Amino acid sequence: VVKSARVMKKAVAYLVPFLEEEEEGGAAGRAGTVLMATVKGDVHDIGKNIVGVVLQCNGYQVVDLGVMVPAETILDRALEEKVDVVGLSGLITPSLDQMVHVAREMERRRMGLPLLIGGATTSATHTAVKIATQYGGTTVHVNDASRAVGVVGSLLDRKGGALYRARVAQEHGRLRERFARRRDRTELLALPEARARRFKAEWEGYDPPPPGTPGLTRWEDYPLGEVATYIDWTPFLAAWEIPGRYPDVLSDPVAGPQARALLDDARKLLDELLREGALTGRAAVGLFPAHASGDDVLVFESEAAEAAARGLPVADPGSPAEGEPAGLLARIPFLRQQFAKEGRPNRSLADFIRPGDAGGGDWIGAFAVTAGLGLKEVVARFEEAHDDYHAILARALADRLAEALAERMHQRVRTELWGYAPEESLDNQALIAETYRGIRPAPGYPACPDHTGKRTVFGLLNAPSLGMALTDSCAMTPAASVAGWYFSHPEASYFGVGRIGRDQVDDWAARAGMTAGEAEAWLAPSLGYDPGDDR
Ligand code: SAH
Repeated sequence: VVKSARVMKKAVAYLVPFLEEEEEGGAAGRAGTVLMATVKGDVHDIGKNIVGVVLQCNGYQVVDLGVMVPAETILDRALEEKVDVVGLSGLITPSLDQMVHVAREMERRRMGLPLLIGGATTSATHTAVKIATQYGGTTVHVNDASRAVGVVGSLLDRKGGALYRARVAQEHGRLRERFARRRDRTELLALPEARARRFKAEWEGYDPPPPGTPGLTRWEDYPLGEVATYIDWTPFLAAWEIPGRYPDVLSDPVAGPQARALLDDARKLLDELLREGALTGRAAVGLFPAHASGDDVLVFESEAAEAAARGLPVADPGSPAEGEPAGLLARIPFLRQQFAKEGRPNRSLADFIRPGDAGGGDWIGAFAVTAGLGLKEVVARFEEAHDDYHAILARALADRLAEALAERMHQRVRTELWGYAPEESLDNQALIAETYRGIRPAPGYPACPDHTGKRTVFGLLNAPSLGMALTDSCAMTPAASVAGWYFSHPEASYFGVGRIGRDQVDDWAARAGMTAGEAEAWLAPSLGYDPGDDR
């Protein structure tokens, strides 16, 4: 459908002046109008754009407000344009709260319009529990472009609409009950208990590998041609809702032919973009002396400063800024798993860095990469030609190049810059499967779900001087960017922090220099309690 959209769009562009002459005819031919927007603080819009195109190809008019759109603008425009449905999109967890806010505002303004919710971190449960409860109109979670037409059609259907809405409400009731049952069942350990059950690395006799190139290394123009071979095509296909693992999916009887045609187009465009030098890749890597202090990792400007601070008592929670050791560049407050489990440790990323009182220093790395500089111009060129397909392809390719650059950088860190695995030699499949030593957890992902960690990464690397920035929800711009931490410990692994208790949120707030309320807002998806309950 998206591929054929260009023909439809060109035809419509040709016809519009005539339709406007006969205004009534124009409006009567339309199935309805849908407003679409990526919420304030968020910048990703590939899924939203696909949904928009699919709706347009099915006769709906789409008013696309783009990215980072405040609630007020969304609602004002919805009224101005007399839309029939409002659709919200978001990629990162802080956007979930923005969606709740929009729903509340729709209720306050008694809008009554159906509300669609979509995007990577949204879910049917979150929609039912947190969003639909704020709003008297019907709220539907639609994470699948191919379902969007059916859902909008059902919502606007004169005869069947009421029955459909009643069914949605019933399903929401079921999801809310299940959510409450699960939450009551999850048993959380008290924070000191969880800490006692931390992952205990063997520090005696451990020799942390010193980086060959400590400090900052930056690339203003990283050759993206070198990076292209590191692309992982599985998430690319997923963005187009083609399920399956690359390259196996190519031989799938149903998905195979579509996957191959799509990849052909993608590779052609990729070659073109690389040949023209349309996109610029930039990267920053920093490798710093560090040690753990409780669940914090302290990052220092020099080995001497790190050594001098070693063995100092853990800073008093509640006064994180006071009495910080000299030469401290950053304090990274990591979170710890708190849910009760048998036989396995309650992990925190801090467990993979040697504590200051364990006989010596350690190192931690930070990275930020982007492949999105220049993308705006490429997309604008395609959109002017009514070529949505290539505009979306270009966005998806820039995302892939950014992930591939992160993969390539990590490889260079292991083999050259940090150099703890100089002999490593892995093909792309093995890299994607992460069979190497060390991890690169990204703030906002399950092991460190706090998005504000990106502020620390950006600060340590001076990422803004590379043209990268953070929105007020800590989404990165350009959208095709990746940032995170490097851990070299052989036992370092990914995990999910899961639900955490109020005791950890209070403790973390003090360590992060936030109020408890601010911490609850940033950690909302991780809370194992209802913040509305009495303290
Ligand atoms: N090949 C993939 C790589 C991205 S997904 C692609 O091209 O899209 C894997 C990355 O996500 C990891 O390298 C890490 O940066 C992040 N990640 C995955 N699981 C994580 C977790 N549990 N905690 C933190 N970061 C995680």
